[in-house]
Amino acid sequence: MSENHPIRLVMFTSEDCLYCPPIEKITLEVIGQGMDSFVHVHTIDVKATPEAATRYNIQHLPTLMINEQIVLQGGMDDDSVRELLWDTIMKHAVQSKELIDQSKQSLLYLTINFWDSLNGSKQLRQNIGDFIHLAPYQLTLLSLYSLDPLVPFLLYRAGQQLGITGMLHHILNLLEPRLGKTSKTQKKFRYLADAFELYFSDRELLRTNFAENAKLQSVNDRKIVLNIWGLASASIGINIGEPLCDFTAGQLAGITTAIMGTKSKCTEVQCHAMGYEYCQFEIELLAPNEIDERQLPSYEDKVDKAERREYFYEVIHELTLKHEDSLFFRKLLRERTDFIHVSALQPIVVALKLMDEFTGSILYSSGRELGIFGPGKELLQKLVQRRNVQAPVDFSTGVSLLHEYLSHPASSLTREWGEVRLSPEDPEEPFRRVIMIEEYGAISGIRDLGKTFCDYLAGYIAGRLQILIGLDPIVKEIACQGTGSPECRFEITVHQGQKEKTHH
Ligand SMILES: [Zn+2]
Ligand SMILES: [Zn+2]
Repeated sequence: MSENHPIRLVMFTSEDCLYCPPIEKITLEVIGQGMDSFVHVHTIDVKATPEAATRYNIQHLPTLMINEQIVLQGGMDDDSVRELLWDTIMKHAVQSKELIDQSKQSLLYLTINFWDSLNGSKQLRQNIGDFIHLAPYQLTLLSLYSLDPLVPFLLYRAGQQLGITGMLHHILNLLEPRLGKTSKTQKKFRYLADAFELYFSDRELLRTNFAENAKLQSVNDRKIVLNIWGLASASIGINIGEPLCDFTAGQLAGITTAIMGTKSKCTEVQCHAMGYEYCQFEIELLAPNEIDERQLPSYEDKVDKAERREYFYEVIHELTLKHEDSLFFRKLLRERTDFIHVSALQPIVVALKLMDEFTGSILYSSGRELGIFGPGKELLQKLVQRRNVQAPVDFSTGVSLLHEYLSHPASSLTREWGEVRLSPEDPEEPFRRVIMIEEYGAISGIRDLGKTFCDYLAGYIAGRLQILIGLDPIVKEIACQGTGSPECRFEITVHQGQKEKTHH
């Protein structure tokens, strides 16, 4: 049994214990919501087997023990029990390597980080804090959208994956405790709708700034219609004629599937980025034989990729001016604040990267595109002029300028990353340098998951350097917070044949 259930939860009770039945009930409820496959629950009656109580020195009833450690003793209110169990079990879950596949573990870990950071028990970024400006978040999204018409679909799938396996539904249970208490399908669906409204309305215990407000438009037995104002992905202040919130839509569908145990889909029918006042999502339960018609875009649709990309770069240019207004003149894109919790960005990058190797290269390519065409080129130009040189410069000067650019105060206003360092020049290897970036928002706080995650930033570095040296460099992330390193390290080299071209 224990091989299949790496987490052992033991509950000590007795028939005359008053607090035991409610706590037992709530424990089984919490476990029943997606954790029963990896938690084994065992109940011990201390009257029937007093030797067990003596062995573990049980003083109060009920006592809950998880993997031989006491986590609860005596009575406690429902919500506290729920929160405590969720917290403890999840922490054990992500520590047992054999438990679940790596991608599920990574997504669980993100959710725990998210929760810990918001309730103040852990800071993901010691030096620059856990909030990041909308600029890097929106630019990451838009450069992804610009790259390929396939991206909205991939983002939906990544969001769905996070919704199904990321245990976000336990956070919703904490927001709307009635959700976890009912087993009646119709009631549950209504409480889920309430929980979604709370999750995005930014007034309860979750101060994420993901959105500014949310309101249920309607809810019936199969369909929730939810309006969200100021959603970070859509608050670009430009009408671009297509929705930008596929990741959120996927997440809503995934969470619904996890909670209702039924296939679900979510469609964004109106988006703030299409000129509407708010984003409107329709979340629907699917009938058993119904399929989610959200399919891969067919290439017969003749989407002109180059045209699309050009269009998005015009949008990015226009948006950059708005970002500058927000950062320098406090002309905000949203009502209250343009800083959002990093957990808005993290699951996008992590869930995309975990899908397959192909998405890793999409992240790299879109980062590289933004590096070449994106905002900040004036600053780059200024730094070049200050050294009395002209681009293209040699490799060593280029890398040093890049370092100066990435650590410039103007670049750090968005709090996208913390300190940036550059490895010293090595005469043995003149065409190899390493850039080290601390507290990169997309990955900070994650632990060793045996994987690098920052393909997007690697691509961005490559694109920026290309402007300086006039050649396409190779940038590879050789250590990441995702491989247990305290910072992300990017190795920069050039192709063999290009080396002599960079000698001056
Ligand atoms: Zn939207
Ligand atoms: Zn990294």
